[in-house]
Amino acid sequence: MVKKLLAKYRAKRDFTKTAEPSGQTKVTDSQKLRFVIQKHAASHLHYDLRLELDGVFKSWAVTKGPSLDPHDKRLAVEVEDHPLDYGDFEGTIPKGQYGGGTVMVWDRGFWDCEAPQQAYSKGKLDFTLEGEKLHGGWILTRMRPREGEKRTNWLLIKHRDAFAREGKKSRILDEDTSVASGRSMDEITASKGRTPKPFVTAKTSRAKATVEREPRRAAASKASAKKRSTAVFREKGLR
Ligand code: MN
Repeated sequence: MVKKLLAKYRAKRDFTKTAEPSGQTKVTDSQKLRFVIQKHAASHLHYDLRLELDGVFKSWAVTKGPSLDPHDKRLAVEVEDHPLDYGDFEGTIPKGQYGGGTVMVWDRGFWDCEAPQQAYSKGKLDFTLEGEKLHGGWILTRMRPREGEKRTNWLLIKHRDAFAREGKKSRILDEDTSVASGRSMDEITASKGRTPKPFVTAKTSRAKATVEREPRRAAASKASAKKRSTAVFREKGLR
């Protein structure tokens, strides 16, 4: 099932050239369904909303990003299903590769929906988000295809609830650092700063993670030149 769902994802990418996950990394068990939003500076900047369903991430490219204002109907173009380990991907896709550009884990957490499979096939997802930036109720509704339209367009709309914000206060996109690493897009592009903390994958065992955290703390107290070289070493070690 998962393999079939991911065929399109794999066909679009050359994993010898991109560091994006191929869907082979073990993910942690979760009682709740996970979601992630990745800010993606490809040829056109957009925000990829990914909702866990049937062992993959159903995915939409939200061109303008989510808005907390219930008046805003944000176009969300459905794209190919992504593997769950993609949820931890933060880095840069090389130029010339599919989706070339920098990817930031902008938000993540859990989503909840009544009968999500049915809701998805009906084209009306009425759901809640429990993220670090986004909360409360949302609607994703599939638009009727226009003639000749190849893409499947949906609209993402905030519910009127305690988490809705109108006007200027709705600008949640101003919160512009990674929830996985605290880094800005520029830092991610330059491979600088903290390494992202995984959420979906169980890549590093606890013991390993501890060993890795040690030199980082030690480095913090040393000269900046030394700090830089440690950072470079760390980045390389994680590839
Ligand atoms: Mn994208």
